[in-house]
Amino acid sequence: MQISVIGFPRIGTLRELKFASEKYFKKEIEAGELLQKAQELRKTHWLTQKNAGITYISSNDFSFYDMVLDTAALLGIVPKRYKELNLSELDTYFAMARGYQGTFGDVKALAMKKWFNTNYHYIVPELEDDTEIKISGDKLWSEYAEAKSIGIETKPVVTGAYTVLKLCRCTGNKTAADYVDEIVNAYKDLIEKCEKEQIAWIQFDEPALVQDMEKEDIELFHRLYDAILTAVKDCKVLLQTYFGDVRDIYQDLIEMPFDGIGLDFLEGKETLQLIESYGFPKEKKLFAGLVNGKNIWKNHYEKTLKILEKLQEKEIQTVLSTSCSLLHVPYTLKHETKLSKEYLAYFAFAEEKLTELKELGDLAEDKKYFDREAYKKNHDLFAADRKCENVAVKNRLSHVTEADYIREPKRSERQKLQKEAFGLPELPTTTIGSFPQTKDVKANRSAFRKGEITRQEYVDFNKKKIAECVAWQEEIGLDVLVHGEYERNDMVEYFGEALGGFLFTEKAWVQSYGTRCVKPPIIWGDVYREKSITVDWSVYAQSLTNKIMKGMLTGPVTILNWSFPREDISIKESISQIALAIRDEVLDLEANGIRMIQIDEAALREKLPLRRSDWYTEYLDFAIPAFRLTHSGVKADTQIHTHMCYSEFTDIIPAIDDMDADVITFEASRSDLQILDSLRENHFETEVGPGVYDIHSPRVPSVEEIVLALKVMLTKISREKLWVNPDCGLKTRGVPETDASLRNMVEAAKEIRKN
Ligand code: GLN
Ligand code: ZN
Repeated sequence: MQISVIGFPRIGTLRELKFASEKYFKKEIEAGELLQKAQELRKTHWLTQKNAGITYISSNDFSFYDMVLDTAALLGIVPKRYKELNLSELDTYFAMARGYQGTFGDVKALAMKKWFNTNYHYIVPELEDDTEIKISGDKLWSEYAEAKSIGIETKPVVTGAYTVLKLCRCTGNKTAADYVDEIVNAYKDLIEKCEKEQIAWIQFDEPALVQDMEKEDIELFHRLYDAILTAVKDCKVLLQTYFGDVRDIYQDLIEMPFDGIGLDFLEGKETLQLIESYGFPKEKKLFAGLVNGKNIWKNHYEKTLKILEKLQEKEIQTVLSTSCSLLHVPYTLKHETKLSKEYLAYFAFAEEKLTELKELGDLAEDKKYFDREAYKKNHDLFAADRKCENVAVKNRLSHVTEADYIREPKRSERQKLQKEAFGLPELPTTTIGSFPQTKDVKANRSAFRKGEITRQEYVDFNKKKIAECVAWQEEIGLDVLVHGEYERNDMVEYFGEALGGFLFTEKAWVQSYGTRCVKPPIIWGDVYREKSITVDWSVYAQSLTNKIMKGMLTGPVTILNWSFPREDISIKESISQIALAIRDEVLDLEANGIRMIQIDEAALREKLPLRRSDWYTEYLDFAIPAFRLTHSGVKADTQIHTHMCYSEFTDIIPAIDDMDADVITFEASRSDLQILDSLRENHFETEVGPGVYDIHSPRVPSVEEIVLALKVMLTKISREKLWVNPDCGLKTRGVPETDASLRNMVEAAKEIRKN
């Protein structure tokens, strides 16, 4: 059976691309060296796949920052303000991704959004009224040629026209529909160029097809592809979807002249049903996404083979594939030296998934597969007990009552009490929690991990940092302080380490955006709080100041969403277990004198089901109560904050308000402020701190700029409900820009308070 990989990770097993890019940003290396590194990585990735026996290997899945931005660049969708910088092609690209502040100008980065239901972020391309969409780069072909030169025939992959149009932001008077003809022509040119290069297969990624599609969307898809596909002669086109099923357009797709259609059988709940109801054309190839591109558990061979069997019975030409790009899982188990074999036996990262694809592909062709070693081994693994249950956890959860989900008194009363208790100025200033993770901070943590320094030395260093951070914030004049999060590498792993039921990897990095990677822990068993997590740091930090010190926790939904979840119990059950663990920590902080506690739910939006009909039943109905469970036990004048890294919650504003937090801070500076109108229309009760500047870029916002942002905000939010803060945590920023930005922010708040 042929096997296919939708896309491979690109950051490098040991994050080589990240480090090279960051050096380039700091001007420590030249562009040539970065390009060289990128080429080496691509070669390694192609060879790894080739050696694993993959039939359809992707090219152009490599990216210096993001594949949507690559596609935009390829199509010439580059806003004027970046072109006018007159930088090299590479630097223009990075200017769009990260903003640019230097000799040639000062521009912010393009907006960044979560990639469907993942923790990957893509750059939002902007269409201006006079944008001319036309093929403007040759990355796709040069990378194809590069692979070919080492003897590997690849299928170039590019974001498809429909998804591109859906993701672009139109900044002028035109709407997406106005660009149809141009984009069609560009994709036709693209295909013609592929024909010329005698490329056998090209993959158009169209994940937007798994979202709810209206009649107009289906028409749009037809307008695009009915025309684009007329350019096809010999080159075969694979329409690749993932992250769900294509129920709204399946019948259309199978009648259109695609040569292959890629469907997700894992997140696509109805995929199999669609094939059973409407059939699948014999002349097309079905790329069956059965090996999970998002989770790290081994594939359950028996289940997968049963599905493959069904497809074979229907005489469908099946190509076994990953469910989505492997971008969302780490590279390899090879570098995991600390986890015992008993654990590792259950996991498959990207490279191991290649082996699974190969084994499954072979087994599927063998009628007597159950006698084969690979099958038996897998079968035995799943038959065995993982011994990951905890009776006490199960018991506690079964005793949770409806009342445990409700905080008393109601919020409007709490807000009055809290205003009195805290006596903060109007438009209080604060930050989201982390301060720059400078080299010394990382070195201290790593030295401790390696056993090079004692616990006491480690703690003393962090305390010194906390003391400096507190003094720094007081000096800047912030109203509500934080301890700076120096003890954390990231906001989930740190908590997971103090919770029973989690496992940690050493090198299992996954790209989150640009050069930023995260290392999600694995939820192995039932979860509970083993020991206090943040109490000592927060109490120490509070002891240094008369100002309010915000406690800083990660919420249950985010902990789960940024971990690799179990597949043997429901998400609801896992989240509830974590919620109880965090509840213990919240009450512990309160008992130790911490009066404001922020429970970050940075990832709440990210796992919102892609289809509206599933939003509540499959997610919000348990995710929101889980958040309430964490804080329902605190006193009326303990103030609960939450934070989200985005503002696209316009559609679920009531659910967000229903978290019953007292204050919410969120990203707003890289998005239009439409959300604020919606908050007002929905009578949003929670106090709000829409981020006044973008922390994802080193650019320093001016006082005027922030004053302006605040003035706009004040036209939409009442004065007594508005907080002033950056977009998100400052951990990835340098000290100088953080200092300058926060000073400008405080200055701007003062300016506004004057009138
Ligand atoms: N408190 C965290 C921080 O400041 C929040 C991070 C996040 O939202 N991603 O880093
Ligand atoms: Zn954030």
